[in-house]
Amino acid sequence: MILQRYQSPEDRRPAWARVADPLIAAAAVTRFRNVTPNLLTSPFLQSWRVFLQSKALPGSLKTMLKVAMKYNTQCLPMTIDQDLRNAMPFWYHQGRRPETRAVYGDKWGVCQQSTHHLATTKQMVDHARKNDAPDHHETQDCDCYACYDDRLSGCTNPIECRKNAMKKLDSLALIWDPRSQHNPSPHRTTPNTTPIDGFIETWNSDSIRDGNPTYHIRVLVDWDAAEQRTRQMADIAPILLPAWDTNEVTVYTDGSCTLNGTASARAGSGIWYGQDDARNTALRIPGDMASNNVGELVAALASIQGNSRARYINIVSDSKYTIDTLTTLLPRWADEGFTNCKNVPILAAMYGEGWYTFSLGPSQLGQLGSTWINLAPPNRAKLT
Ligand SMILES: [Zn+2]
Ligand SMILES: [Zn+2]
Repeated sequence: MILQRYQSPEDRRPAWARVADPLIAAAAVTRFRNVTPNLLTSPFLQSWRVFLQSKALPGSLKTMLKVAMKYNTQCLPMTIDQDLRNAMPFWYHQGRRPETRAVYGDKWGVCQQSTHHLATTKQMVDHARKNDAPDHHETQDCDCYACYDDRLSGCTNPIECRKNAMKKLDSLALIWDPRSQHNPSPHRTTPNTTPIDGFIETWNSDSIRDGNPTYHIRVLVDWDAAEQRTRQMADIAPILLPAWDTNEVTVYTDGSCTLNGTASARAGSGIWYGQDDARNTALRIPGDMASNNVGELVAALASIQGNSRARYINIVSDSKYTIDTLTTLLPRWADEGFTNCKNVPILAAMYGEGWYTFSLGPSQLGQLGSTWINLAPPNRAKLT
């Protein structure tokens, strides 16, 4: 219920929900902070995540967000029309290609966010299209109204800034791109009044009459049902979902060290997928960091980084240090600013990968006492 009130459309939102927004944005997982907090509108509308262990986040909001995760709260529109495309927050758009995160904080990304205050996809399109204005000239000192205005706001090169915005828009799936006239989503002309098995919709889809994105956020009661529904959505809108190359990948990791604990220690990491698999890798750990734990940890980190387009990663490791780090310690250490732990650069990199919910998988394999660690992005995590 609290979640439902939090998700109310703008004119009906309670005052506390407005207070909650900046607190939630401030608790975004570090990797998503290359976008200014006021543009992190909602973790349900956009594809950024909240660091639930954050000390700055009040307990009541943590509970609300956990409930939201448990019930797979997400934006699943019945129909994607032009109003909705325009109104969607542009940054961390759910229909972007995953690799675009890297360009959000580039020089022009900062200008688009901080100078032009571009929040919605429509604002981004309008900015990009100023280069096509009839009175505009492709010269640095163009004195058309838009260029004059942009320079006055502090934009150092409006033409480049807009070209860059156009490029960033290209990262959107076609179905979400307001510039395309493409409309593969069948338009429902009658309201969907039949309840769908296993689903509770936070409000009746009858009310979905305009392009306000918050109308499309739904709470799904269990993951399997959500999966099913998401699959149905994928049939309607094949490119709506993040492009995972692989659903699940299993990787065996190991570290080794000779003369562990001495100045002449030499360490390495092994990443193994299977016999004669081209992805099998051995890594050498630089001398001053050489230890068995670092070897183990780097093997896990490399296997996470090597599978950024997998939906789930199973890491099989026999290192208690690695398993404890991934499943319980990492969020706490991050919260403490990595002041109470060793191997900080590796841990920080691991944390930066954003896979911050880890759970122990079935350990019945019993291979050399190895344990499976299932890694899943939290919005895909199966919580029990
Ligand atoms: Zn101009
Ligand atoms: Zn600019």
